[in-house]
Amino acid sequence: MKVCKFGGSSVADAAQIKKVKEIIESDRQRVYVVPSAPGKRVEGDTKVTDMLYAYHAAVSRGESGDEIFEEIRQRFIDIRDGLGVSTDIESHLDKIAADVQAGACEDYTVSRGEYLNGLLLADYLGFDFIDPAGAIFFNANGVYESEKTRTVMRGRLRQSRTAVIPGFYGSMPDGTIKTFSRGGSDITGAIVARAAKADVYENWTDVPGVMMADPRIVENPRVISKITYRELRELSYMGATVLHEDAIFPVFKANIPINIKNTNDPDAPGTMIVPNVIDNNTHVITGIAGRKGFTVFSVEKANMNAELGFGRRILSALEKNDIRFEHMPSGIDTLSVVLANSEINGKEAKLMDDVYNLCQPDSMEIYAGLALIATVGRGMIRNVGVAARLFTALANANVNIRMIDQGSSEMNIIVGVDEKDFETAIRAIYKAFCDQA
Ligand code: ASP
Repeated sequence: MKVCKFGGSSVADAAQIKKVKEIIESDRQRVYVVPSAPGKRVEGDTKVTDMLYAYHAAVSRGESGDEIFEEIRQRFIDIRDGLGVSTDIESHLDKIAADVQAGACEDYTVSRGEYLNGLLLADYLGFDFIDPAGAIFFNANGVYESEKTRTVMRGRLRQSRTAVIPGFYGSMPDGTIKTFSRGGSDITGAIVARAAKADVYENWTDVPGVMMADPRIVENPRVISKITYRELRELSYMGATVLHEDAIFPVFKANIPINIKNTNDPDAPGTMIVPNVIDNNTHVITGIAGRKGFTVFSVEKANMNAELGFGRRILSALEKNDIRFEHMPSGIDTLSVVLANSEINGKEAKLMDDVYNLCQPDSMEIYAGLALIATVGRGMIRNVGVAARLFTALANANVNIRMIDQGSSEMNIIVGVDEKDFETAIRAIYKAFCDQA
């Protein structure tokens, strides 16, 4: 049995929703469907969720917001008419407008995109409609309650052989609507998959799957056919945007694979995200991702290696200044910490002062302008020469490596390069590992 979540562009208008119906009807295992609100129909279009935020903001400022609401209304009427269903969407829209004018909260307002799209989709598919307000719960502090949700959602799903469950929101103990953070329909899909004990959680989007590298940097990168949760986490952390971060946990706990699929090319296999793979893996490298905007703070002191507690004192200076660090490469007499620029901005002098007082180093240096690139692959452990290939590729591309860090999982190698070399480095690594026929 499969739970299918459809992202905003997959349900942006009637034409897209017709594709959704074909997809659902082509496989009897696809029984629970989680839609987003209508997203962008074309480049430059506005998502309904964004319009709802704007509407709520306008009304809160004391404006009528009528113009914005009119656009929202028209989008849903167009979908309803395009699908040829008879849902009385006008009265739902009227109620929402009246609620917002009467002071309804922002979360309620912005969740209505999913709610209305869910009603239309349920009508069109002939599926039951399950309002997540009664099946996904947050506590009074707004923290998601997984166990209560699982029990209630499971009980509710049992009553419906097929159902549409809108994404993005649930409710608080007093009944008010609460949303997840942006992109949160992915989480709803994972919650439903876990409650239903699905065999697969299908996440339908407008891309062919998870790419081996950022398509804005590498032309036509390959699609990753299989990736583990841990590899995906490494890539996402370094900037690959695929799924909402919190969508992994519910299905990870239940060992349910996620299949990223393309609504516009439904027969393509997409990417399988799996708990663990026992494979005689074909590829050494699964993917490459990176981010700019890092700073290296280096400390040098003769005989540092013999000094007890040196590392701890540096870390305590970071902690005292409320600075989180990413990596800590070290040598015999040097120790560096790599920090996101946003962590250290404005605190440079204070940090150096504190480190000076705690450690009396010979010298200290701060270098902003570092980009980090993670080359990730579960196949690395078993393959000889991965690092050599990586460094040779960078050397041949004339990229100076400023830092190297291999994660202790042996699943990734992270290199730091000058920001100006970022794109060149990614292309060189991709070419060395992924670009083989
Ligand atoms: N519609 C919401 C958003 O735009 C949630 C989602 O699509 O996942 O963030």
